[in-house]
Amino acid sequence: MSGAVHIIGAGLAGLSAAVRLTARGRHVVVHEATAFAGGRCRSYYDASVGMTIDNGNHLLLSGNHAALGYLRSIGAEHRLIGPPSAAFSFADLASGARWTLRFNDGPIPFWVFDPARRVPGTRVLDYLSLARLLWAPAGRSVGEVIACKGTLYERLVEPLLVAALNIEAPDGAARLAGAIIRETLAVGGRACRPLIAREGLGTTLIEPALAHLQQRGAAVRMEHQLRALRFAAERVETLDFGGESVPLAAGDAVILAVPPYIAASLVRDLQVPTEFRAIVNAHFRTEPPPAQPPILGVLNGTVQWLFAFPGRLSVTVSAGDRLIDAPREELAKTIWGEVARLTGLPAALPSGGPPPWQIVRERRATFAATPAQDAKRPGATTPWRNLVLAGDWTDTGLPATIEGAIRSGNRAADTIANQS
Ligand SMILES: Cc1cc2nc3c(=O)[nH]c(=O)nc-3n(C[C@H](O)[C@H](O)[C@H](O)COP(=O)(O)OP(=O)(O)OC[C@H]3O[C@@H](n4cnc5c(N)ncnc54)[C@H](O)[C@@H]3O)c2cc1C
Repeated sequence: MSGAVHIIGAGLAGLSAAVRLTARGRHVVVHEATAFAGGRCRSYYDASVGMTIDNGNHLLLSGNHAALGYLRSIGAEHRLIGPPSAAFSFADLASGARWTLRFNDGPIPFWVFDPARRVPGTRVLDYLSLARLLWAPAGRSVGEVIACKGTLYERLVEPLLVAALNIEAPDGAARLAGAIIRETLAVGGRACRPLIAREGLGTTLIEPALAHLQQRGAAVRMEHQLRALRFAAERVETLDFGGESVPLAAGDAVILAVPPYIAASLVRDLQVPTEFRAIVNAHFRTEPPPAQPPILGVLNGTVQWLFAFPGRLSVTVSAGDRLIDAPREELAKTIWGEVARLTGLPAALPSGGPPPWQIVRERRATFAATPAQDAKRPGATTPWRNLVLAGDWTDTGLPATIEGAIRSGNRAADTIANQS
């Protein structure tokens, strides 16, 4: 089979599949329902802050090898920036304490033995509890595998897992938490360097991919929403885009790289995750103080992570469902109050409020990474031999992340290429 591959959805799963297949000489057509590519990982011009911002701050780690491979393929690896070694600054709003975690590069965790590098107030033996997550079986929650209390938990494990799994840490699937620790902390600092798209998600992860695909003759059709798949006995026969039907020739294939609730509406009897968690971001147009770290972990506040970009401070709150219906002005004021304490900037401007701001609430940011929802994730293949699934919600063994989305896209592309 070596016909055209139709990819439905121009998020990172769809784009990474497209990049991989064009590298193997396949003809690719990407169909995206909306007017923009990137899905949940995108930039847009925001009139309230008067600048181009990201829908949400996205953090990658240097151990995200599929994401870095994708960026290399599209010539954009240099657009991710991060410190030369793995260091994370933290501030505790309750106690005023500040510290920086400094991992050493190699797999032997010397940093755990050094009180100046490890989490203040912890002992070497505390870190052994993390090993229990490494071998946690499927079906168990984090709270069933480790004690969710104590200084190490509060100052490192909880912030790490809430950010990576986008769920209250005790409820998270232990196997997903284990995968994160196996691919980051267990590898050592060289896998833990924080990387951010300083100039924006669009110019780093999305636009170079679109340009790359265009140069290689792939077609990307925006505002081209798939309405239905028409099935024959063992294969998808026709793509139905409403006004237009695309019949599939014998060697043609389809990668469905849409969110789970859309996939379930297009494919009968497909089991998918059905619960979601929100992520809330607040963006403020203001110049960060010169000493502000690019990323600051925050404890005991509404703010969880504070990102400093040129001309902008930006806050992430994961597992943010409790804030989804909070009045916007109040939320902006609360968050700015904490940002002002963290940065030393004035608590109120002459206008009496925060600087120009925007709150972006992604209600279904990721599937809920509970053991029960994790068990509902399907693999890439389907009963129809020319239909393959991709997306951060498919069973990648990782939580819903850029790395997971890109691995799923690579896997879908390889599945199709290997059928040829
Ligand atoms: C606010 C926020 C913060 C995040 N922070 C991080 C982070 O710090 N680090 C990290 O690694 N990950 C983070 N993530 C997760 C990351 O963004 C996602 O895992 C990833 O973008 C998912 O990509 P995807 O391609 O699987 O899905 P999506 O991005 O959802 O792409 C699906 C695409 O399919 C399109 N589509 C839907 N229906 C149709 C149809 N019928 N026909 C055609 N097209 C259709 C959609 O419009 C969309 O473009 C964050 C997510 C959010 C929302």
